[in-house]
Amino acid sequence: MTNPVKMNVVEMGRRPCGICVSITKWIPVVFILAVIGWSYYAYVVELCIFTVENYGEKAVYLILYHVLLVLFVWSYYQTAMTPVLRVPKQFRLLPADQARFQATEETRLQAQILEQHVLDSRLPLYNRTLVGAVRYCDKCRLIKPDRCHHCSVCGECVLKMDHHCPWVNNCVSFSNYKFFVLFLGYAFAYCVFIALTSLQYFIGFWKNEIEDAARFHILFLFFVSAMFGISLISLFSYHCYLVLRNQSTLETFRPPVFASGPDKRGFSMGRYNNFCDVFGDNKLKWFLPVFTSLGDGIQFPMRHQPPTSVSYGATCVPAGSPSTSLGEGVGRPQRSLQQRDEEDLMGSPRWRDVEAGGSNGDPAPPEVRSDVRLINE
Ligand code: ZN
Ligand code: ZN
Repeated sequence: MTNPVKMNVVEMGRRPCGICVSITKWIPVVFILAVIGWSYYAYVVELCIFTVENYGEKAVYLILYHVLLVLFVWSYYQTAMTPVLRVPKQFRLLPADQARFQATEETRLQAQILEQHVLDSRLPLYNRTLVGAVRYCDKCRLIKPDRCHHCSVCGECVLKMDHHCPWVNNCVSFSNYKFFVLFLGYAFAYCVFIALTSLQYFIGFWKNEIEDAARFHILFLFFVSAMFGISLISLFSYHCYLVLRNQSTLETFRPPVFASGPDKRGFSMGRYNNFCDVFGDNKLKWFLPVFTSLGDGIQFPMRHQPPTSVSYGATCVPAGSPSTSLGEGVGRPQRSLQQRDEEDLMGSPRWRDVEAGGSNGDPAPPEVRSDVRLINE
């Protein structure tokens, strides 16, 4: 039995440490905000107001700068502040199964318990471990949905996890991946714009044509924007490449494993569809940092039709499962996340039926795969 006094001492010892860690995690974010704040002063006040003499040039610079700044800061805010989506409770074992799972150390029996839960709950699961078992997180005590990974920094399983980014103090995942790519793109555009428009004044610095007060701000403005621009171009290009391949950063290191084995392009449906998966199907909102990604972070379209009758794939697709097709075998989802109830994700009513209906043992209706997209090759 746990000693409550001992627990309190442990908690008291951990709490200040935990607060320190939380504060430390925000240091990179404060650094980024400080650089943005300084760049605003240097560009708007020192360059545009005090140094640029032509009023037309001044106005064009200020308007374009503020448009880019708003898009850049908005994307950054969305990336940092959008919470990760939690795994629905249907991916947790029922208490009795959990107790059996914890009680045994026999891997085979544990695998059977997981398989049975997947079957009973009709979980849409295609990714497996290398040995073909259901993926399970010991720390969160739940079955991992496809493309879900445990983040050791966040301390929880994250849907379609890409990576944990210290510069935004958040996991880059299904819920904010579009924002992250836009943030990289707008940050790059912001840096390039500042570097190009300050270049002639940077050259003026070396010719001693700039007044002393503005000299060093303009010098550093050019250097810092060029330096950030160069480092951002590689990261932005890499994520554009990943978007077009429908791959996460983690999947480039560890390809997802399907019934047929590992397949690093397993979720790729062609470049345009891959792009729409992240940016949505409304072209007017593609480049705005508002959520338009398709799907729910739990089910994903796949390159190959999943098996319907193999041992552990049997739960995947109920026969005759409907899908909306765009032609050439490419199905599209019927609704985007925005159109769904919050509840639909966090505690999907369709899956809740499993638990609610669990009293009479009825499985969930096959509607669970109604919006899966497939490419049949
Ligand atoms: Zn976990
Ligand atoms: Zn994380």
